[in-house]
Amino acid sequence: MSKLEIHQIPVLSDNYIYLARCTETGDTAVIDPAVAKPVLDEAEKLGWKITHILNTHHHPDHVGGNMEIKQATGCTIVGPKPDRDRIPGIDIEVDEGDTYTMGACESRVYFVPGHTRGHIAFWFPDSDALFIGDTIFMLGCGRLFEGTPAQMWDSIQKMRDLPPETKIYCAHEYTQSNAKFAITVEPDNEALMARAEKIDAMRARGERTVPDTLEVELATNPFLRADAPTLAAGVGMPGADPVDVFAEVRHRKDNF
Ligand code: ZN
Ligand code: FE
Repeated sequence: MSKLEIHQIPVLSDNYIYLARCTETGDTAVIDPAVAKPVLDEAEKLGWKITHILNTHHHPDHVGGNMEIKQATGCTIVGPKPDRDRIPGIDIEVDEGDTYTMGACESRVYFVPGHTRGHIAFWFPDSDALFIGDTIFMLGCGRLFEGTPAQMWDSIQKMRDLPPETKIYCAHEYTQSNAKFAITVEPDNEALMARAEKIDAMRARGERTVPDTLEVELATNPFLRADAPTLAAGVGMPGADPVDVFAEVRHRKDNF
């Protein structure tokens, strides 16, 4: 099976756009283009020919570059079927359980509502790559603009079942502020405290903290740990239903 070569482009204040090139065919996808120009410039510099756009959800900082990139390259736009009316230029609609093969690289599509009602994720198993949009961030998760805590917890649980070595390519560099919050809800988590220190050091050196692995998130991200007794205790809800713990943690983060 063919693998992806992945290139990360920081744009706007904290967005990441990804270029993912199939090493067998040279087909190249842009994931969640907030803007067009930096993507077209970067692809040209790399000598990669953009053939696809993959969209995880409809927010402007994920689809803003769609039409300009499509006009410039004639690429095919693949996006969430449940959100077809909100994805500019969509050509191919995909949904939970679908596979989509970009070049010779197969992805599996997951429906992960919560941040928006039509959010999807693309998992490329042979590359250990998960393009998750704004569902999971390093040490965080997306705000619940269109979904309920129960929906988001359900979506996150689907992602937790992927192999631990999976790299999570999220769309924002929010890690340092997420870490500051995370230690307030699970102060006894030593792995979290160690990671928070490491992140401070990385940011002080101007380094990116994205991607990281699912294994690391499982041990430290409170939004993946709503069923961990230490987190429930940390928010004063020992023995509570994980959905209620998740809702409480999300509520606290919204007001942090
Ligand atoms: Zn978003
Ligand atoms: Fe976003």
